[in-house]
Amino acid sequence: MKLHFDFIVVGAGIVGAAVARQLAIQFPTKSIAIIEKEAKPAQHQSGRNSGVIHAGVYYPPESLKAQYCIEGLGATIELCEKNNLPFEQCGKIVVATNSIEEARLARLFHRCQLNGLAPRMLTKEQIGQKEPNISGTAGMWVKQTGITDFKRVTQCLLEKASDKGNITFYYSTEVDAIDETAEGMHLSLIQGKRTISVRGDLLVSCAGVYADALIRKQGLPCDFRIVPFRGEYYRLRSRFDTISNRLIYPVPDPAMPFLGVHLTKMIGGYTTVGPNAVLAAGREAYSGLKIDLLEWMRLASFPGLYKLLWHLRGNVVSELKTSFSKKQYIKQVRRYCRYISEDDLLPYRPGIRAQAVTLEGELLHDFKFVGSERALHVGNAPSPAATSAIPIAKAIVSKLIS
Ligand SMILES: Cc1cc2nc3c(=O)[nH]c(=O)nc-3n(C[C@H](O)[C@H](O)[C@H](O)COP(=O)(O)OP(=O)(O)OC[C@H]3O[C@@H](n4cnc5c(N)ncnc54)[C@H](O)[C@@H]3O)c2cc1C
Repeated sequence: MKLHFDFIVVGAGIVGAAVARQLAIQFPTKSIAIIEKEAKPAQHQSGRNSGVIHAGVYYPPESLKAQYCIEGLGATIELCEKNNLPFEQCGKIVVATNSIEEARLARLFHRCQLNGLAPRMLTKEQIGQKEPNISGTAGMWVKQTGITDFKRVTQCLLEKASDKGNITFYYSTEVDAIDETAEGMHLSLIQGKRTISVRGDLLVSCAGVYADALIRKQGLPCDFRIVPFRGEYYRLRSRFDTISNRLIYPVPDPAMPFLGVHLTKMIGGYTTVGPNAVLAAGREAYSGLKIDLLEWMRLASFPGLYKLLWHLRGNVVSELKTSFSKKQYIKQVRRYCRYISEDDLLPYRPGIRAQAVTLEGELLHDFKFVGSERALHVGNAPSPAATSAIPIAKAIVSKLIS
């Protein structure tokens, strides 16, 4: 068995898959290993998200998020079209329900324009004409936003990587140790009960919620921690499958742009509502009841966590309430859609966001990369990283070979 590769990619989520495909396109004869601790790709964030192909509504124009998201919208749609993957560019309406939100919406409108989108403001009446089940005092319609199934997109990216390149997959294989020497990258892997070693000339780590752990395994300085935030969704009863023609979003709080449950048309013809954001009891603690003691100790020893919780104490309490009570959850939805009641909320799979937080307790909003001579780690890739995966991969590969 060959255990020396030109490139090693850790993580078969959408970012790792896009990196593997990009490497295979640019270096079809070089050997690439993909190492994934799960038995299948896209088992974490990439297979547990809202499925929205974002257009770049929220991100500061100078940010990597704006750049890669806008490019990623086109690249994702092109990939879907060429490979018969389901997608729909249904558009979205951001709905304001009071004067504070209207002022924020006006700023968001301006930001959309700076990001090259062509948003349209809607009056209360125009919202009702476009979406009879939705109400608000003002709205903003963005046509470009779409939906897809990112699990299928990830699988497709991996198939493309296999078709074009020289790929070896290691599933159910966990990276345990990373060592960089003048000769290359040396990885120790756990595969069931055995340990194996592989060597690579260059390494790209796309480990999602474990991003900081892998950076530290390599001994690189890491001035942030990944804090896992569970996002809980509900699926609406089938009579609400067509409750809206477009995605319906509340106006985000600029300090916590990922908060605010939205109505999402899903590929498959149903509608979900969510996600909220509550501190998870472990990096993969999908059930609210599951507590991973080691993870709790890791989180509890991070001073940035307490500062973050203190800064966001109002949001922390209100999000926790939505987690414990459907009644509180539905209140958020009923601000813009009064027809949905508690009884209409059916269970749906949650997701866990990998969110980097600094020692000072600040959320790192933009994408972040951490590098060494022979390795590049994706340190922070929260939403819209599924939309942005293809341009992120292009940027990683050009950084890696420069
Ligand atoms: C609730 C929620 C909703 C979201 N909605 C959207 C949306 O609508 N649109 C959008 O664009 N983005 C959205 N996002 C963000 C998006 O899903 C993520 O940014 C993206 O999937 C990140 O991909 P990734 O490959 O970096 O991480 P992941 O998909 O988490 O993949 C990381 C992989 O690394 C593997 N791994 C970790 N450690 C090791 C190890 N030691 N050894 C081997 N393998 C390892 C993991 O098993 C995993 O498969 C959402 C995220 C969440 C959680």
